[in-house]
Amino acid sequence: MNTREPDHLNLLCDMGELTTIVTGNSDIETFLASSAALVAQHLKAHVCSIYLFEAMENRLVLRATQGLNPKAVNTVTMKPGEGLVGVCFEKSTIIREGNATQNPVFKYFDNAGEDPFNSFLCVPICSGIEKIGVLVVQHRELDHFTLFDERALRTAMTQLAGAIENARFLMELGPDKTSGPQPGLPPFIKGEPAGTGSAEGQILFPNQNRKSLLYGPDPSPSLYTKADFTAAIERTSEELKSLQERFARRLPESASLIFTAHFMILKDKNFTGRMKQLMDEGQGPISAVKEVAQKYIDLFSCSPHAYMQEKAVDVEDLTIRILANFQDPATRRKAGKGSIAVATEIYPSDILKLVADGIKGIILVGGGVTSHVTILSRSLQIPLIIADDPRLLDLPPETRLLVDATQGNIYFNPDPDTLALFKTKHQTEKQIKTQAMAEQTFSRDKQKVTLLANINLLSEIHLAKALKAEGVGLYRTEFPFLIRTGFPSEAEQYLIYKQLFEQMDGALTTVRTLDAGGEKNLSYSGFTKEANPELGLRSIRFSLKHREVFETQIRAILRAAQDKDNIRLMFPLISSIDEFMDARQIVSDCSQNLDLEGIGHNKHLKIGMMIELPAVLSTIDEFAEMADFFAIGTNDFVQYMTCADRTNKLVADYYIPYHPAVNSGIETIVKAAIRHGIDVSVCGEMAHDPDHIPFLLGVGIRTLSVDPQFLPSVQKIITALSMEEATAYSKTMLAQTRVRAAAQILKTRP
Ligand code: PEP
Ligand code: MG
Repeated sequence: MNTREPDHLNLLCDMGELTTIVTGNSDIETFLASSAALVAQHLKAHVCSIYLFEAMENRLVLRATQGLNPKAVNTVTMKPGEGLVGVCFEKSTIIREGNATQNPVFKYFDNAGEDPFNSFLCVPICSGIEKIGVLVVQHRELDHFTLFDERALRTAMTQLAGAIENARFLMELGPDKTSGPQPGLPPFIKGEPAGTGSAEGQILFPNQNRKSLLYGPDPSPSLYTKADFTAAIERTSEELKSLQERFARRLPESASLIFTAHFMILKDKNFTGRMKQLMDEGQGPISAVKEVAQKYIDLFSCSPHAYMQEKAVDVEDLTIRILANFQDPATRRKAGKGSIAVATEIYPSDILKLVADGIKGIILVGGGVTSHVTILSRSLQIPLIIADDPRLLDLPPETRLLVDATQGNIYFNPDPDTLALFKTKHQTEKQIKTQAMAEQTFSRDKQKVTLLANINLLSEIHLAKALKAEGVGLYRTEFPFLIRTGFPSEAEQYLIYKQLFEQMDGALTTVRTLDAGGEKNLSYSGFTKEANPELGLRSIRFSLKHREVFETQIRAILRAAQDKDNIRLMFPLISSIDEFMDARQIVSDCSQNLDLEGIGHNKHLKIGMMIELPAVLSTIDEFAEMADFFAIGTNDFVQYMTCADRTNKLVADYYIPYHPAVNSGIETIVKAAIRHGIDVSVCGEMAHDPDHIPFLLGVGIRTLSVDPQFLPSVQKIITALSMEEATAYSKTMLAQTRVRAAAQILKTRP
């Protein structure tokens, strides 16, 4: 055993010097090589190597070495967890071995030339909670490194980590990656899929490109004339009209709504009139447009009312359209058409505008995405990927991107083979979607399961019917609210619900009242920022607080449902019996008032509730006596059971749909519903997930409500499943008290 004590102080002082070198202009490879040499020298090691982690490729790469074959640099790689180096990295733990080759985890790399080294000391390099890489020292003799070496190295690494992190960043960026095409980019990167399908097109930075028109420098005043201004206004008006027509076809619920403010402002004589006046006084047209627009933007932004502040965004959008229309449409690349939009933040109304502009796919860089942005993009069949990679924002404008939102992959300038592969995949998916479905769904042992559709946009009804949905298990009424810049009136809502009921033509249709608040913030409603919006004034709580909004909606639903059968109404996020009764009372008050006003409506709607909160479990029997039906919203039920925000990646591992508490909660709900003879369905994402369908059916669920595109796959799963097997499986699952044990059982699902 070696008992030598290294000179800690010297090592630390030298390391300190190195960190100052890297902040100067020294080249990065030299910096890492010098660090390795210095450590080797101080610890009298034969080898010192530095491995850095590449998150994109999920691998450790040998970046510098003193003592191993120099050709191994940049070629020796390993996955986290692979070999002693990989384990040291993955577990963030120091590994000291007197005879490393005897350790079963030791991995020999042929091209590194490391076999004669017995002693091994490996230290993780971390900056804060960020894992950066690993430093390894090796020695030919057995038991060379001591606890002192271990401590010295650990201290030195904390000092060096910041500098190495910078080096790693610069290496990833590379000298040629700051502009122009990026040869160093991998063929594809992985993001998180938030929608389905795939699309290919040229990159577009909607905000960046568009906003520079308004906020960038003015062109020479003589470049455009007053006639160009008049033409730009006319083109803008035409553009808005045609966008609106396209909307009307694709999104009937927002047809006349989304550009109403734009039209009003465009027609406002003060707006264009003042611009003309400035031009008459000698100002250039672009500068005149900008000046007047800016005044409007400032005015609206200063308003204390949220809905007025929203108008500032409308003026901005309108002005950018006007400025873009100064260019002749023949020479102008149609904003968005056929492109893949890359943005840092996105709201539901942005998605609509992008889709109206002909965008084919969306990449959201960093930032969270609300589940409604995800749901909306899915409903509109626009592939959406969330990728936390800032390099996406620096891609040159000619870059072509292929987004595969099923896998979450983003391909850069895809080659013809990749494109051909996706074309075939696309066609196969289309065929699966439109494959002939059985009218009704039965398990292998002939038990009936009712498949309903979740509808977010009216345009989805067509697909739901084509795929033989037996009705609508959840109509999310918040979408007409979310995609607008003001509350829809009773008349507007009436038209939307009427279309829904007419198109469903007597099939079971379940309408959920407004589920606003939380992450589905209606920016125009004057929401106060809440510290914990998911625990705040959301959903039915919002409706009960803003009775006028709630009553407007209930009246519209009751009126539209007149003379229609099979329509059900339900409240989201019910937390107590009192709350359910209050909400139901408002429905009967609305009905009475409509009677007094002599307005026809439906007085016999079934009234049910969504089960999304653990708080209802202890009184579930009383709920089952009061409610006409239950719909289990597993998205929220899992969120509140496990206390894990459904949109927060950081706690995704805690969001466990098969958590023992979730399992037993679902069983409690189903049993109560069966005892009281009321319908119970599941309408959260679990309902289409092959992992969870066997449990749900096994526990007694016989109605699933899913997004229309999932209907074929869900029917296929059920047809192959025996209820007897599913019941036995769910019993085993319910017997588990531990998450890990439940995860093991999940692997045995039928
Ligand atoms: C749910 O919570 O499972 C649900 C269906 O509602 P939403 O996803 O709209 O919150
Ligand atoms: Mg919910």
